[in-house]
Amino acid sequence: MDKAILQELKKQIEDVRIGEKMSKHTSFKVGGPADVMVLPKTQAEIRSAVKILGAQNMFVMGKGTNLLVTQKGIRGVVMKIAGNYSGTKFEDDCVSVKSGTSLSSFVNAAGKRSLGGVEFLAGIPGTMGGAIVMNAGAFGGEICEFVQEVTLATREGIIVLNRDEMNFSYRHSILCDIPMVVVSAKLKLIDCDKEQSKCRQSELSARRRDKQPLEYASAGSTFKRPEGYYAGVLIEQAGCRGLCVGGAQVSQKHAGFIVNKGKATPDDVLELIEQVRGKVKAQCGVELETEVKVVGER
Ligand SMILES: Cc1cc2nc3c(=O)[nH]c(=O)nc-3n(C[C@H](O)[C@H](O)[C@H](O)COP(=O)(O)OP(=O)(O)OC[C@H]3O[C@@H](n4cnc5c(N)ncnc54)[C@H](O)[C@@H]3O)c2cc1C
Repeated sequence: MDKAILQELKKQIEDVRIGEKMSKHTSFKVGGPADVMVLPKTQAEIRSAVKILGAQNMFVMGKGTNLLVTQKGIRGVVMKIAGNYSGTKFEDDCVSVKSGTSLSSFVNAAGKRSLGGVEFLAGIPGTMGGAIVMNAGAFGGEICEFVQEVTLATREGIIVLNRDEMNFSYRHSILCDIPMVVVSAKLKLIDCDKEQSKCRQSELSARRRDKQPLEYASAGSTFKRPEGYYAGVLIEQAGCRGLCVGGAQVSQKHAGFIVNKGKATPDDVLELIEQVRGKVKAQCGVELETEVKVVGER
């Protein structure tokens, strides 16, 4: 990494770490080091990092709950926008949410103000930024239904995209194709009863605990839902439930999840993904596409 650039980053951003292990920052608990990690606490710090590097020259992450980082790790700079940069601001029936805010705390804060509709997001363990990029969804809802505007930091300054400009589709937004840094999002919620909102959150959390292998490290559903099918069902039909490579296993509880049984390496997970894809293609004729984003040097 260019010494002058690193110096400049250290001058502008308080929390800069060298050789940070990505296994500490991903829900899969695997992944080699990032050369440099910056953890901004303010919008000014985010803007400085983008100005110094450009959004294309760094990898931006939230809580790392949809990432598989390779063993060699990530060359260059990772910007982690999570708990250090969080908060929600209410204006009438709209709410502005900083990108590092966890989805659960956002849904909770909204519920307390009798604003809801987004309870389905509460059990998704990521940030607002990650949810916007991925168009996160569950139980028939998607975040895009509530998004009014997304504020982005670019080298040229702050820009705001409205929902149509975000090109949302299933687990996809324009930011999957053109990486830009999400600073905040404005969502329009619907009036709700506080108690009913709380009950709905508890009910959906119980459904997750019942169906998903939350006792193991994972990145949620490994594969996107192929049109007309459920990935988990195809994986079961192909005989992959419980299939292992090293410490990685196709969950016994929910075949749509690959879990880390404790000592998995990124290569174990990658090999298992390929085996599952191969078997599903051979058995069912369907190409599975990963929902999990694989990042880092191969
Ligand atoms: C147990 C479990 C259950 C899950 N259940 C669901 C579910 O029901 N539905 C669902 O949709 N997902 C689910 N997920 C996946 C994951 O939680 C979501 O995709 C979530 O939205 C990712 O948020 P994150 O902050 O962790 O993002 P990361 O995993 O850190 O990043 C995901 C993507 O977003 C980008 N990104 C993150 N923050 C920013 C930012 N501020 N600016 C620009 N780009 C950014 C990254 O570059 C990357 O491309 C689950 C995961 C787990 C572990």
